[in-house]
Amino acid sequence: MSIDISLFEQAKEKIDQAKSILITSHKSPDGDSVGCSVGLYQYLKKLNKTVQICHPDNAPHFLTWIKGSEDIISFENDSDKVRECFFKSDLIFCLDYNASYRLCSDMEKLLDDSNANKILIDHHPNPSINAVVSISDVSRSSTSELICELIDSLGDAALIDHLISEPLYAGMITDTGSFRYPSVSSRTHDIVSLLLKSGIDHSMVHSNIYDTNSIDRLKLRSFAVCNKMEILDHYPLGIISLTKEELERYNFQKGDTEGLVNVILSVEGVKIGVILIEKGGCIKMSFRSKEQYYVNEFANKYFNGGGHKYAAGGMSELSIDDTINKLKSLIPELF
Ligand code: 5GP
Ligand code: MN
Repeated sequence: MSIDISLFEQAKEKIDQAKSILITSHKSPDGDSVGCSVGLYQYLKKLNKTVQICHPDNAPHFLTWIKGSEDIISFENDSDKVRECFFKSDLIFCLDYNASYRLCSDMEKLLDDSNANKILIDHHPNPSINAVVSISDVSRSSTSELICELIDSLGDAALIDHLISEPLYAGMITDTGSFRYPSVSSRTHDIVSLLLKSGIDHSMVHSNIYDTNSIDRLKLRSFAVCNKMEILDHYPLGIISLTKEELERYNFQKGDTEGLVNVILSVEGVKIGVILIEKGGCIKMSFRSKEQYYVNEFANKYFNGGGHKYAAGGMSELSIDDTINKLKSLIPELF
């Protein structure tokens, strides 16, 4: 499916008119949210635009090597500066999220109250942001893929240097499981080809993302698989749960459980994996699935969340044991 090319041109018109541009993305940054934010940021800087990136919270360690990520202002670190950015910007990009509640609550209000033009670029279902230009397509593997299409369709592929291509490539590999998930298309690979032509060292990008484990991180993940993974007898579903105490035991740092839910899906025959993490007084849940089993509506209906068909998240305010019991009682709905 191709996106109406005029949407990219409309976005360019707004970029040309803007005096001060703000790039935002969702809370709990992942490779795609950081990658597409920084990729677009570097491109807009090349166009000599005044641009800043504001995220609700800090990126995990495995993404901080991305050049330009050090310029991201987080609400967690500097809420005054983020407020100032919202007030002075006349164009706001909403990247990799479909609804303002995916920001932290204070930033959600800043976005909702802002009179600036908004451009949404995203690949989640059900966009609900009031944007002047909405480039939203669930068939895209990642928002980074969409940013690359934007640059290419505007005739600016020649501007793509390693400062632009490395974050976009990082976003694409993290959201596609290194090009494994069903969302990958021949177009995804065409775009990767375009990025590789800028001369990036793709092995370095993979290594920076996947080979930077701390010993504690590896031990936590091993403990989770050895001691905390339960594969159900009657349904092809596996669960990992980690309590606050268990996380502290392994000196948990942000990003340490990233992708761990996929390990459950790697068990032969398993179709759905769920991980429950006790964090900040509630239980953060991640769902992954394959084939004809979808998790986003389930996450939305029962755990106040959402996401994609095969990758969704949610939360619970019950205890971890009660959340597991609730999940188990609802499993028949998933199959
Ligand atoms: P993760 O499990 O990696 O946190 O998130 C997987 C997918 O689900 C991502 O695409 C993310 O946008 C979405 N997601 C995660 N948490 C939430 C949530 O609380 N609400 C909604 N609507 N989507 C979420
Ligand atoms: Mn994404």
